[in-house]
Amino acid sequence: MIEINHLKKSFGENEVLKDINVTVNKGEVLTIIGSSGSGKSTLLRCINLLEKPTSGAILYKGENVLTKNYDLPKYRTHLGMVFQSFNLFNNMNVLENCVSGQVTVLKRSKEEAKKIAIENLEKVGMGRYVSAKPAQLSGGQKQRVAIARSLSMNPDVMLFDEPTSALDPEMVGEVLLTMKALAETGLTMVIVTHEMGFARDVSDRVIFMDKGVIAEEGTPEDIFVHPKEERTKAFLARVL
Ligand code: ATP
Ligand code: MG
Repeated sequence: MIEINHLKKSFGENEVLKDINVTVNKGEVLTIIGSSGSGKSTLLRCINLLEKPTSGAILYKGENVLTKNYDLPKYRTHLGMVFQSFNLFNNMNVLENCVSGQVTVLKRSKEEAKKIAIENLEKVGMGRYVSAKPAQLSGGQKQRVAIARSLSMNPDVMLFDEPTSALDPEMVGEVLLTMKALAETGLTMVIVTHEMGFARDVSDRVIFMDKGVIAEEGTPEDIFVHPKEERTKAFLARVL
């Protein structure tokens, strides 16, 4: 679905991504693990073009989205993104948060957008909170609304950048369970996470990044049970 070829990204002199090659297949859950500063967020931000890659290609349905005349706004609507810091609109209630993008970007009618928003809010267990304002919600609830908002845009791929790392420990489980349920629906997901148990449990494939390269890639069993690379072993020894 998305094929990344020889992707490089530098900030000034600092080459943060060094020749990344990875394919995201339809329906798979791909998790990205690695130390702080290894380039995980930058890779996600390059995939949805919040950052412009320095070189390389990103093929979406076979077409390079980095070519000059490619319809980037359209490409972006196919990708959902969930951040560490929910980024909800605080002046809107839960339902309005999930409706507004559908109406402004996808040009859906308000009626249709509401129906879709409610379906997605129910999916994440937030159907009872349509009228609440973000300030009235816990962190875990806000993050579930952010997920429902993103789902309401019917993305082909959902990108998650450490969706639980800003949460109080007691809220982490509910968000991970929500994501696990989504994974089981066959949604294509790319997830940067420090939750190793979750990565092991939910992923089809795991990528271990180190200093801007993919140091090792494989099934959860390959990475967590039989890691081959010394740096993967060292990382896991630190975090497990
Ligand atoms: P973490 O686990 O802490 O979130 P990460 O693996 O997501 O780390 P990135 O945020 O991708 O790491 O950062 C990789 C490197 O790129 C870091 O050295 C960081 O300082 C640098 N970097 C990231 N964004 C920028 C930017 N906008 N300008 C300059 N340098 C940046
Ligand atoms: Mg990061």
